[in-house]
Amino acid sequence: MRNLIHRPRRLRRSEGVRNLVRETNLSAHDFVLPLFISEKLRAPQAITSMPGVFQLSPNDVAAEARRAYDLGLQAVLLFGIPREKDEKASGAYAENGVVQQAVRAIKAECPQRVVITDVCLCEYMSHGHCGVTRIDGEHFHVLNDESVELLANTAVSHAAAGADFVAPSDMMDGRIGAIREALDAHGFQETGIMSYAAKFASTFYGPFREAAESPPQFGDRRSYQMDSANAQEALREVALDIEEGADIVLVKPALPYLDILWRVRERFGKPTAVYHVSGEFAMVKAGVEKGYFEESAVVLEIMTSLKRAGADLIVTYWAKELVGWTRP
Ligand SMILES: [Zn+2]
Repeated sequence: MRNLIHRPRRLRRSEGVRNLVRETNLSAHDFVLPLFISEKLRAPQAITSMPGVFQLSPNDVAAEARRAYDLGLQAVLLFGIPREKDEKASGAYAENGVVQQAVRAIKAECPQRVVITDVCLCEYMSHGHCGVTRIDGEHFHVLNDESVELLANTAVSHAAAGADFVAPSDMMDGRIGAIREALDAHGFQETGIMSYAAKFASTFYGPFREAAESPPQFGDRRSYQMDSANAQEALREVALDIEEGADIVLVKPALPYLDILWRVRERFGKPTAVYHVSGEFAMVKAGVEKGYFEESAVVLEIMTSLKRAGADLIVTYWAKELVGWTRP
């Protein structure tokens, strides 16, 4: 028998040793719970493509946030579905819009906990695009600077309602700088920006569009969301958002973009978030339903891989379950 000097298996011999040398540990503090609030509802409504996920009515949201916080989660991320949509996305920046009301309700219930708000126009636009559009014959354009103005108004209205962070998810150019400027001009220097800095045009968003009722009525989002083939461009996008004042940068989706997440965290050293999206969620749920894997084990493996790849925070529909699954 050879005398091996190095026997890496010594570090895997027992549960105790493995626990001691584990490099990546998950805790409730890593997760952010997305909540969908619909002005059209009076009671929670299941989202069929996302088993176990609900649209909430404005009356349920404070209690749901309270439950999440009581479990040990630190933050929720709010998406609004307005009663009416129009061509100016008026509901997005209305003082009494659905998100603005929800933020006030949650802050009244749990003032110390973190509220992050999605800032986009798609849920509020009758055409479902993330910006102001113009149609020239066969072509449609999503107008950048006109959209940025509305996004900045939206961010200010969320800050006024009490949001701790606004999270622009639209991918228009220059919106982080414009939002920072607008927040400061209105006295919201303390309101942070979590920027969807590298958001890819992805097939994995399918189920979300049911959840947020925001599918585009024509065309697609490829003129503003990123091409999934581009990593260098993602780094340029992130660099711009940081220059413009992003406090946290986010990569979306998660698993198919682990290389991007890793590079962003390594290169910039900024707090980095990742959004494990609806399609990734639905895929695992389908596998669990078919008996291919055990839900908690597969989800923990996925979440560990996201954290190992550099995520400081993870937006996930499993946030509440993960509190129990990650308890030592
Ligand atoms: Zn959008």
